[in-house]
Amino acid sequence: MKVMAQIAMVMNLDKCIGCHTCSVTCKQAWTNREGTEYMWFNNVETRPGVGYPKGWEDQDTWRGGWERTASGRLRPRSGGRLRRLVNIFANPEMPTVEDYYEPWTYEYDKLLSAPKDSPALPVARAKSQLTGEYMPTIKWGPNWDDDLGGSMETLQQDPIVEAMSTKVRTDIESAFMFYLPRICEHCLNPTCVSACPSGAMYKRTEDGIVLVDQDACRGWRMCVSACPYKKVYFNHATGKAEKCTLCYPRLEVGEPTVCSETCVGRLRYLGVLLYDADRVSQAAAVKDPQDLYMAQREILLNPHDPEVVAGARAEGVPDNWIEAAQASPIWDLIDTYEVALPLHPEYRTMPMVWYIPPLSPVVDEVAAAGLDGENYKVLLTAVSDMRIPLEYLAGLFTAGETNTVELVLRRLAAMRSHMRDVRLGREPDPAIAAAVG
Ligand code: SF4
Ligand code: SF4
Repeated sequence: MKVMAQIAMVMNLDKCIGCHTCSVTCKQAWTNREGTEYMWFNNVETRPGVGYPKGWEDQDTWRGGWERTASGRLRPRSGGRLRRLVNIFANPEMPTVEDYYEPWTYEYDKLLSAPKDSPALPVARAKSQLTGEYMPTIKWGPNWDDDLGGSMETLQQDPIVEAMSTKVRTDIESAFMFYLPRICEHCLNPTCVSACPSGAMYKRTEDGIVLVDQDACRGWRMCVSACPYKKVYFNHATGKAEKCTLCYPRLEVGEPTVCSETCVGRLRYLGVLLYDADRVSQAAAVKDPQDLYMAQREILLNPHDPEVVAGARAEGVPDNWIEAAQASPIWDLIDTYEVALPLHPEYRTMPMVWYIPPLSPVVDEVAAAGLDGENYKVLLTAVSDMRIPLEYLAGLFTAGETNTVELVLRRLAAMRSHMRDVRLGREPDPAIAAAVG
């Protein structure tokens, strides 16, 4: 057993209000320079949606796809665009600026002189930050799907919708959404590092943060192609790759990341995990994608176990890091309570940003009967009838395996109900614990 330390994050999606404060403060701190206009080290996606860059989860079909050779190796599918480009440039095709978006700004200095009867806000004209040209229409942005949440209120007052068929109205009324904030996953098995021909991408041994050595980077962009989360960006001004640094200069002086500190929903838990570095490759190679979540969890080590503590000291993990691992809530959220799940474990990079999936209102007869949606009996019995389909959440967090997600939602529902009893001074109901095992 080789015990190493990893800074990791757990985000509680129920608490994200989609305000983008994290993205904006990150941008002000890190990507407010020429060449980084289109980069959002932190972005917040509205789900379901295509994300940023557009279609990042769908690269299999997006770029021609992959196929297995007779020996079982993966290679770009014959005849696909990907194969042709690999052959020509020895680098799979990357997202274009259109897949991210053409960044723009407004002529803020002309706001006061804008016509007062202008039909749209903001009234200043948009200008491309890449070409400096005016943009008559903005066709795409990093969170284009954001406004869906307001649609029902608007649509209910719209006479056209009033006249729609019941089927269309039902479809609209059963729409769901939630927010998914994303940063680099600082993976235990980072493909960006494996793919870099210059040795510029590296994973720090002391804390697991993945960084780009700007002097060593030669601009091959293999990291951009290789990262399945599309969290490495190419700076067109410097010709180098850039990515989220997990705010390491702040962490080194005991400050949290900018996104954690400024998060309005207080949903980002930052902490230290201890893991067995000897088992990473083996866990990443588990055959069935639906077993990867458990394989990833099993290489994490209990920071309260004396054998783990001794192993960490033997590998040079400082005592204050071991204490941080013991004090951090993230171990409990991931392992003790089993409510935090990795994003797309099937990508096999062992991502280290974990997510507590969102609860959502129950639909159907439970709600129609006027039952209390905060009552655990309602929540526990109606987990599979929640507005956000279990299958959708399982597609994000467990490679499609729904039982784990259902159990997590039951635990969250039970906790919500329990805390409600506690806050109201009621006797906690022992049936709650029994219901979630
Ligand atoms: Fe590398 Fe992408 Fe993993 Fe970040 S998310 S460590 S950029 S593979
Ligand atoms: Fe969500 Fe927090 Fe970011 Fe606001 S600041 S969008 S609440 S993660």
